[in-house]
Amino acid sequence: MNRGLEIHAVSRTFYTENGTVVPALDRVSFDVPAGQITALLGPSGCGKSSLLNIIAGFDAPDAGEVRFAGVPMGRADSHCGMVFQTPALFAWLTVAQNVEFGLKRKKLPRTEREKAVSGMLRLVGLDGFALTYPDELSGGMQQRAALARALVLRPEILLMDEPFAALDAQMREKMQNLLLELQRTLGQTILFVTHDIEEALRISSQVVVLSSRPGRVADTIPLPPAMDDAARTACRARIRAALAES
Ligand code: ADP
Ligand code: MG
Repeated sequence: MNRGLEIHAVSRTFYTENGTVVPALDRVSFDVPAGQITALLGPSGCGKSSLLNIIAGFDAPDAGEVRFAGVPMGRADSHCGMVFQTPALFAWLTVAQNVEFGLKRKKLPRTEREKAVSGMLRLVGLDGFALTYPDELSGGMQQRAALARALVLRPEILLMDEPFAALDAQMREKMQNLLLELQRTLGQTILFVTHDIEEALRISSQVVVLSSRPGRVADTIPLPPAMDDAARTACRARIRAALAES
């Protein structure tokens, strides 16, 4: 049985109040293998965020379905954690309180919550910032806190929507390394939206390229583990070709 995520013929059209019809996704199908990072790449407005919202159960497709471990996913699915481009932390809560938030809603006992929060802050490199407020942190550190908040709930699937796009190049690379390390430790199944080809090549084991609106799968490109320069160049060329066609 497929333990990963299956996106099967998902279509979604939006109808705006002023009567405009926006076909956003057109029969999108691909698999997100379990315990691996899949990158979703495509031009702005091609439906990447719309697809993540459907997978997370915040929105429903007009046609098609999303299955996890062979089972259709439900509304606001508890298997999914989400990290956005803007960290969206609660400004009035400390870093630790932000990370603890979801655990409180799950009614976990206090000692367990505290243990989970301090363990996760250590994993993302925020040791010593538990009592700090979000606006006292750099962008990269805020994004670490957002990652901790999602991961502390131990979601089997992590959906990430251009999470590092607002960071400078050096911080982006640090965060990519952190993500790879966390993924190795926690074994999450990750769908990572980016518009950066190099980021996709660096962190993922498979790249799905969507065409411009309505989003259709232009190509699905498996990346060999431990790519040498020649393999990387070939994969980069195939991604570019798929984007150019779209
Ligand atoms: P991406 O994340 O790839 O940039 P989006 O998924 O945000 O693209 O949007 C895809 C298209 O659908 C865009 O044209 C956007 O304007 C439109 N869209 C997204 N959400 C809505 C909505 N709730 N109502 C109307 N149009 C929407
Ligand atoms: Mg988007």
